[in-house]
Amino acid sequence: MSEQVEADAPSSGVFGELVGQEKVVEQLQTAVASTPAHAWLFTGPPGSGRSNAARAFAAALNCEAGDGCGACRTCELILSGTHPAVSMVSTENVTYRIEDVRELVTTAQDRPQGAEWRVIVIEDADRMTERATNVLLKAIEEPPPRTIWVLCAPSPADVLITIRSRCRLVSLRIPPAEAVAQLLIERDGLNPEQAAFAARVSQNHVGVARRLARDPEARRRREHVVSLPLRVGSASTAVLAAGELVSIAQTEAEAESDARLSDETASLRRSLGLDPEEKVPPKLRGQFKRLEEDSTRRAKRSVHDALDRTLIDLTAVFRDVLAVKLGGENGAMELINDHLREQLIDYADRLTSEQTLECLKALNAARDRISRNVPPQLAMEAMMMQLIPRKASNA
Ligand SMILES: [Zn+2]
Repeated sequence: MSEQVEADAPSSGVFGELVGQEKVVEQLQTAVASTPAHAWLFTGPPGSGRSNAARAFAAALNCEAGDGCGACRTCELILSGTHPAVSMVSTENVTYRIEDVRELVTTAQDRPQGAEWRVIVIEDADRMTERATNVLLKAIEEPPPRTIWVLCAPSPADVLITIRSRCRLVSLRIPPAEAVAQLLIERDGLNPEQAAFAARVSQNHVGVARRLARDPEARRRREHVVSLPLRVGSASTAVLAAGELVSIAQTEAEAESDARLSDETASLRRSLGLDPEEKVPPKLRGQFKRLEEDSTRRAKRSVHDALDRTLIDLTAVFRDVLAVKLGGENGAMELINDHLREQLIDYADRLTSEQTLECLKALNAARDRISRNVPPQLAMEAMMMQLIPRKASNA
């Protein structure tokens, strides 16, 4: 590592990735520097970086340099998801099973090994039933001395008041597009156009923007998704398009999981001081195995997230169509899919504003069905059927 890297130190360290979240970073740094509260609730819309913020917080709490340097072994292990004192918990089901929550509560009793704080992050606390919440509540009311709970949810209203009132609140926001683009330029070496494109079409979602920026195949898949409604004209094409959507999401989920596993593996190798080509000594293999197991365990969830992402991308198409319809064709309106401006203007001609709103509603309904584990093909077919342009009466 060159010495010059240290020069732009303010944005480095574990909090460096939390772009556009200055207030949150300050709040968490203050907590790290004093005696932190035992229960936290991190809220913010998808893409605001709740899980990343929670992970960074866990690293900063346990950092050997005391502030989340991002470079010590503890920081590296926590960021790569392989430190035994930090658990990141998410559920693949619609709700957490009560046994899972009981198990977490038991884990919370153990003293952290090789770290100052045991940190348990529940990535989707909004998916907890009242019964499960009550199990958790007991644990939060009488916290073991070295355990910190971090619950994540879209908004404070998504968790029961009994929990909420015992947690310190942290509110994340969607970062501004410029901040996301800036991060991609500084961290990933993109040129300004690429960075602006990725930030815009991801709608300022750092993780998605980075994937689109790094992987041309991911960009190609996204372009395919957003072009689908423009090609759907009949029931049979709608069914085909639904099938394509599902298979694109599956491919994307696999590619994303592979990329993540290889990042995590590289990061673990670094933290263990292994050269990229060096053979992993037998006594360390368990740690790598655990990364692979985590990745397998996340597989279903990844597909689910990728399906949701395709629906978010399609929603952007119809929001653009609506912007065209409201803004006229003078070209003044800002479009998420600005690179498809011409096609979108044409397409907007085929739909009335009411029909566009119906399409947005259908997309919302599909997201809801997917989140309730309706088979994806069914949910997507029902949605695509709604996207077939009806003969507009404004011809
Ligand atoms: Zn550190």
